Amino acid sequence: MDQFQDEEARIVASQIRQEDAQENSLRPRVLGEYFGQEKEKAKLRIYIEAARRRGEPLDHVLLYGPPGLGKTTLAFILANELGVSIRVTTGPAIEKPRDLAGILTNLEPGEILFIDEIHRLSRQVEEMLYPAMEDFALDLMVGQGPGARSIRLSLNKFTLIGATTRAGMMTGPMRDRFGIISRLEMYAPEELARIVSRSAGILDIAIQPDGAQEIARRSRGTPRIANRLLRRVRDFAMVEADGVITSAVASRALTMLEVDNLGLDNIDRMLLGTIIDKFEGGPVGLDTLAAASGEEAVTIEDVYEPYLMQLGFIDRTPRGRIATPAAYRHMGRKMPDKKEDGESGQMELL
Ligand code: ADP
Repeated sequence: MDQFQDEEARIVASQIRQEDAQENSLRPRVLGEYFGQEKEKAKLRIYIEAARRRGEPLDHVLLYGPPGLGKTTLAFILANELGVSIRVTTGPAIEKPRDLAGILTNLEPGEILFIDEIHRLSRQVEEMLYPAMEDFALDLMVGQGPGARSIRLSLNKFTLIGATTRAGMMTGPMRDRFGIISRLEMYAPEELARIVSRSAGILDIAIQPDGAQEIARRSRGTPRIANRLLRRVRDFAMVEADGVITSAVASRALTMLEVDNLGLDNIDRMLLGTIIDKFEGGPVGLDTLAAASGEEAVTIEDVYEPYLMQLGFIDRTPRGRIATPAAYRHMGRKMPDKKEDGESGQMELL
């Protein structure tokens, strides 16, 4: 995706990168090894059990949330837990209704069809998917001109799992056809630390618990980033230390990679600095911020902002983005006096 070109160069990018090729080996295969997302897991466990008892395929599932949080992993786990096979494709790969028809007619009973980036399906493809999801039927046009007619083919019952980073970009009718909608949240540092320790075990990396916590804290709530930072820190530990990842080693390695103690990199800090220095802390409109920082508005919105908002560094107001007192503190800037008597009443010092 073009909008993510700059983003791909970042070590803390949440998008998949070349160096994540080992991801498959790190994917948990069962729900018990999928850490975090407790609420969603509890719901899914019930649906899995109910589907098993009824001997029916699982209802269609929509997974949404930022990249790298484990949507694909969860789809594979669902297939594994249900004991069915899974076919994987993406929204942009299904160009024509014909392509979708080919996939659907080849599905085995109970099989899972996983469509990543499902918000990017074309309208015609989407329309063909509706009767397939609802009635397990395919409406095809045969013949041409006045002799053309529609025939209905029945399909094997299957489960569609759709994944999207942008539920807001899906059409209402599409969303409504999913019986189960799961929103994945960013992970807490303790959950990420468990993920890091588990991955270190698989990759045979020596790591101390506080080393795992240090990496977790800087991973922007995202398992994909945690696993990537783990591999980078391992290299550093091998060359610069005695191979063991301690908290000090992790901290030095990540500082060298310009990932700060909260996981912010240069672009995040530049964005915060722009709001603070050029716009006196805001409010500043998204497009103005984009122009002033040289980043695309859509990239700011999809990629940088979610984590900065999660940290409470940026607030969205009707008049634009503002930098919060926490952002001023993190950036080592003093808030202008006029902001001090804002909502919080007083300003905490650094
Ligand atoms: P998404 O599809 O949301 O972009 P993925 O499912 O590809 O994310 O996850 C990225 C990587 O993060 C996977 O390799 C997997 O190892 C790891 N991962 C994601 N979620 C978890 C989790 N809950 N527990 C352990 N590892 C996880």
